[in-house]
Amino acid sequence: MFDTSSRDVIELSDPTSDLSGESYDTDLAYSVTCAELGSGHMAEQHVLPHSFEEIPPGPHLAAVVSTVDRKKLNGHDVVRLMQAEARLASHYEAQKLATMVEVAMSPEGGPDDPVERTTEFLEYAPDEAAAALCTTRRAAEMDMNLAYSLTGRLSQVWERFQQGELDLRRVRVFADQLSHLSQDTVDSVLTETLDDSTHLTTGQLRARLAREVMLVDPAAEDLSYQAGVEDRKVVLQRNPDHTANIVATNLPADGAASLMQHINDVARRLKTGDETRTIDQMRADVFLGLAGSDSFIGSSGGGVHLTVNLATLAGLTDEPADLDGYGPVVADIARKVAKAQAKSTWDFTVHDEDGHVLLTGSTRRRPTASTTRSVAATYSTCVAPGCRMPAHSCDLDHREPWADGGATHEHNLEPLCRHHHMMKHHAPWQLERLPNGDHQWTTRLGHTYRTKRAPPRRSG
Ligand SMILES: [Zn+2]
Repeated sequence: MFDTSSRDVIELSDPTSDLSGESYDTDLAYSVTCAELGSGHMAEQHVLPHSFEEIPPGPHLAAVVSTVDRKKLNGHDVVRLMQAEARLASHYEAQKLATMVEVAMSPEGGPDDPVERTTEFLEYAPDEAAAALCTTRRAAEMDMNLAYSLTGRLSQVWERFQQGELDLRRVRVFADQLSHLSQDTVDSVLTETLDDSTHLTTGQLRARLAREVMLVDPAAEDLSYQAGVEDRKVVLQRNPDHTANIVATNLPADGAASLMQHINDVARRLKTGDETRTIDQMRADVFLGLAGSDSFIGSSGGGVHLTVNLATLAGLTDEPADLDGYGPVVADIARKVAKAQAKSTWDFTVHDEDGHVLLTGSTRRRPTASTTRSVAATYSTCVAPGCRMPAHSCDLDHREPWADGGATHEHNLEPLCRHHHMMKHHAPWQLERLPNGDHQWTTRLGHTYRTKRAPPRRSG
């Protein structure tokens, strides 16, 4: 058995806690840390300081991290180390992009020339960066465009990036989603989303930004949607391994969501016990099978779930709605989906101005109980951190186990996708529902994460 009494534990010094001022001496901090670690005392285990997370990314955090032996951290602390390294990576990536802007604005010169900058990006600047960093010119151009946005109209995003609160992937989502908008719109959207964005995955952030943009400038979004649909097309791409991709782009959102749901439904129905194909393979085969038939187009749909504001449905306002499995859609599409109910099989949730659910329903008989709809109206997706699997495609997990007398009632049920359902039971991860409806997860390594109850899907 492991004898804990013989383990030497050494705490990494935390110089910030000893210094009263806002600033601290990086060199001093580093030498204090090194002195403790190098005292000739070979510790069996390193322990990260309590305020490790409060050290801002930069040279000081880098110095502390460089003294840590990751092999001597327990599982709980290696997660904290990984987070610190991610903050550092974001910090220095942000600095590198800011430096790229300086490169792009430096006129011709050699090692002995004075400091000079132009007011605009120079034409062959990406080539300079590409050669220096051994990237393609295209990659250098993309990075420089991103750097230009971040140091200009998206400077608030850059600030979070360099503080290590956002990583490069999420920063790119901001740039992709906001690049075509006016500065006023960008500022309004950032005011609403920036604080939340540090807790969202890229998929969640993309949906959130799309929704916020629709709210701030619905007319422009509608125009750009209509223009986008004009460009719809299907493209065949060859792969090096002689397989092929069929990519359909710029489809109407309602049609695309309905098709995807239909493919999922059919694939799940066909996935019986002795089926050896994976669910991804099944979806691909169903897709190929459908291509020979137009029976599903404009007919039954796939039972897509629409969440829409009543006033929007009545044409009184133009707030965006949500299509499960797709995300926010402009008001016109929501109304179109609702109108299609007579012929199609749409499920719907109608809520009032305060986000209270007024009505849920379906235009066909579903095998699922009204309880399922009730849970799905409260929790629109799987309640695991970052997961966007629509609730109607999830398992309903009994919070208090059924075997222990837990009721099959909406207050004791929450949607978990198959993967997270298995994780909860086998990893194991602890799940607790908080009084306000949020969920708190405690991971296998003892970290806690909170997932907010999906906000009522309405504006404001
Ligand atoms: Zn999930």
